Amino acid sequence: MKRVLITGAAGFLGSHLCDRFIKEGCYVIGMDNLITGDLKNIEHLFKLENFEFYHHDVTKFVHVPGQLDYILHFASPASPIDYLKIPIQTLKVGALGTHNLLGLAKEKNARILIASTSEVYGDPLVHPQSEDYYGNVSTIGPRGVYDEAKRFMESITMAYHRFHGLDTRIVRIFNTYGPRMRLNDGRVIPAFIGQALRGENLTIFGDGMQTRSFCYVDDQIEGIYRLLMSDYHLPVNIGNPDEITIKDFAEEIINLTNTDQKVVYKPLPQDDPLQRQPDISKAKEILDWEPQVSRQEGMRVTYQYFKSLPSEELYKKAHKDFSNHNKK
Ligand code: UDP
Repeated sequence: MKRVLITGAAGFLGSHLCDRFIKEGCYVIGMDNLITGDLKNIEHLFKLENFEFYHHDVTKFVHVPGQLDYILHFASPASPIDYLKIPIQTLKVGALGTHNLLGLAKEKNARILIASTSEVYGDPLVHPQSEDYYGNVSTIGPRGVYDEAKRFMESITMAYHRFHGLDTRIVRIFNTYGPRMRLNDGRVIPAFIGQALRGENLTIFGDGMQTRSFCYVDDQIEGIYRLLMSDYHLPVNIGNPDEITIKDFAEEIINLTNTDQKVVYKPLPQDDPLQRQPDISKAKEILDWEPQVSRQEGMRVTYQYFKSLPSEELYKKAHKDFSNHNKK
């Protein structure tokens, strides 16, 4: 039985990965410090014999007894309001956390896959973004704590690969959505759906002409799984190339939720990328992967999920007091 460590296990992607590896018959060790993750996402796994959970912060030394075959490093805040609230933790988990996990992978002779992001392309000057584009990132802007940590994460991973011969994989994840996203994480999909469910106007940042390309979570997990099982060490984009403006997307949400919400315009946050669309030629060629779920279908399922949450979730504040974490 393969033994797999998944960091960020209580988060959105981490919890779906736990499900996938359990389904594949693996022994799964989930790890999370629960700053942005939620145990509700994995509570259905606690009764299983082939799942265990460590409440641990990977920026501290990581110890896991026994053999490990795979490590998937998915611990990180991943939404712009999280980076603003916990900037230092965001930098540390991408940089120090990755270093600890690479060390663990080396010790255990395990294959390690790290979760990078389309944010390494910053506000891109090349469209769509292919893996050979080096990016346009502000080191000192509000997103810098995430973007630069992820860029460092890629560099140190390649260094362990080249210097120590470690078996590494790097996925560049583009905007992904689906059940278990945090309703209050500030990202556009939960934000719009939450607003529609509360009967509030939808807030479009900027003029709404910025684009994003949304990938349904099942497609994303399949792409990550195939990459882990491949023998390819360089970064691979996984995302859905179906691009849409935020303005058109707001219209789609109004139709989907069957509400008569209006849209209101708010200032565009600093360094908000104006366009984003993955070039997935590499994933197609190397992994024989491409998305299967249309936005219409994926959004229908996601809306049902948010609608099924207890109504107090709709009014939960985005964050507890993080002042202690910021000091660490
Ligand atoms: N956005 C918006 N209204 C919101 C939340 C987000 O118009 O209430 C915009 C945001 O400015 C960005 C896009 O939607 O241009 C996607 O934002 P998200 O935070 O989901 O992801 P990211 O910017 O990291 O791709």
